[in-house]
Amino acid sequence: MTESQTTTTTTPSAPVRLEFVVTLYPHPVLRKRAQDVPVNDQTRATVQAMFECMIRSDGCGLAAPQVGLEQRILVLNATGEPQDNLALINPTILKRYGGDTLMEEGCLSFPRMYAEVKRPDSVTIEYTDLEGVRHTKEYSGFIARIIQHEYDHLEGVLLVDRMTPADKARNRSGLEALIERWKRAQ
Ligand SMILES: [Zn+2]
Repeated sequence: MTESQTTTTTTPSAPVRLEFVVTLYPHPVLRKRAQDVPVNDQTRATVQAMFECMIRSDGCGLAAPQVGLEQRILVLNATGEPQDNLALINPTILKRYGGDTLMEEGCLSFPRMYAEVKRPDSVTIEYTDLEGVRHTKEYSGFIARIIQHEYDHLEGVLLVDRMTPADKARNRSGLEALIERWKRAQ
């Protein structure tokens, strides 16, 4: 599958360089529960390549299963400004609160499909940064929305699972096209 292909190029003096392509629904890796990872050079290289893939794909968040890895790594950026890049290693959502809000969500694994998803406005999360330091932080609004969407990916939960029957009906031909594409590639 081209979607899940990972290419690794290396030269004798350069560190390993990763380049990811987004894995599309219904690739089975998207349904796996991702596992904790150690914070090391390999994980930092994965994060770097995930940011590059997210930006190249015009996304505001990406989870490691979306690049074919069963690892608990999320990258996101709620503003598009480079200084707002946020990498969450082994994140846990400790608390969701603040009342439900409805927002239209898209997903790089479901190109050109959208669904109105209801989620709590705020989250308290715990995560490890790229230096291996554990943090507890609270987020609200759009960034909390991205975190909850991407966190779903670590649990094998996908946009299609969050769709109302109306959204599913509206996206039916798109979903069927993805499934057909997957079948043909087997
Ligand atoms: Zn997604």
